Amino acid sequence: MILDATQSELLQRCDGCEEERVLKLTDLVLGLDHPQGGQGLDPNIVRLPPCPCGAVEFLNRTFDRYPAPRDEAGHALPMHAAAQAALDHRRRVNAVADRLRELGRISTGNAQRVLAESVRPPDLSTLAETFDQPSAGISPAVNAAKEKTQ
Ligand SMILES: [Zn+2]
Repeated sequence: MILDATQSELLQRCDGCEEERVLKLTDLVLGLDHPQGGQGLDPNIVRLPPCPCGAVEFLNRTFDRYPAPRDEAGHALPMHAAAQAALDHRRRVNAVADRLRELGRISTGNAQRVLAESVRPPDLSTLAETFDQPSAGISPAVNAAKEKTQ
């Protein structure tokens, strides 16, 4: 699970051992390639490096819109906390994936496909404020995790 992200790093909490660690975006790539090369398997997957406990997390970029809850008349309903957390995580994953694309961190087999994309994940826009600002290079959550491990 991604707890927070900046333009250069993300803070992951492992689902296996619950340890938190900071990963550099320059160590990641968007897209999953076949081990034998050739056309990429999936342009939406970011494979995180294995946790010391052995668990491997895969992030999945999404292009559909998260279904906002509405009543029968079509009015927006307050979102359940769990649904909000899922939406926030989805935005974070999409923001990380989009930043990898911007940085040119795309797997060899998926590079052509990803560079030809003309749409961005729709869930991204609401997060852009906190992710795209220059000052967002600093994340209190990421910094706290880095201090703990130093
Ligand atoms: Zn772990």
